[in-house]
Amino acid sequence: EERLRAVRDRVRSFPDFPVPGVLFRDISPLLKDPVAFKALIDLLEDHLRASFPRIDVIAGLDSRGFLIGPSLAQRLGVGFVLIRKKGKLPGPTESISYALEYGKGCTEDALSTLQAELEIQSDAVEAGQKVVVVDDLLATGGTMRAACELLVRLKADILECLVVIELKALGGAAKLEAIPFHSLLQYD
Ligand code: IMP
Repeated sequence: EERLRAVRDRVRSFPDFPVPGVLFRDISPLLKDPVAFKALIDLLEDHLRASFPRIDVIAGLDSRGFLIGPSLAQRLGVGFVLIRKKGKLPGPTESISYALEYGKGCTEDALSTLQAELEIQSDAVEAGQKVVVVDDLLATGGTMRAACELLVRLKADILECLVVIELKALGGAAKLEAIPFHSLLQYD
């Protein structure tokens, strides 16, 4: 598809960033090109409209989920909520600590033992609301899984986890278990 090609053509790769052994997929050129960025939001909108008769909320992951989620939410005429790294959100929150496996698979795996923490405001979604969770990229799936755990605590109905890029070799989709998952682009 032409729109998908426009999106794929604007993703670039940087070896050994942020640590040796990681091939970093960078969506900056995609955001910078208005035609490609529009194609991205069009594709995500089409996918969601075809998949779900009703969506109440788009939840975006800190920080590149914030670049995609609000545009998509506006298209769908629904609200956007933030799932942030710990310490950024005021008021009552739910938080979850998880193992940051970023850099997994590289020769030095010292990073695999690091902990990260995500947070959501307790009133971000109401019980039973139908939520789509958006991020730029799924690697090991640890971040998305933790985000979903927060939404489950708020009794949200998670329709799908939606990302632009899936790094297939890291098996992140399996970590999401029964939660539906969709990616626009897949890399080995
Ligand atoms: P995971 O928890 O291992 O799935 O890592 C996913 C999170 O790390 C997402 O929030 C991504 O934005 C970020 N991430 C991991 N690898 C990359 C990459 O190659 N490019 C951009 N972001 C990445």
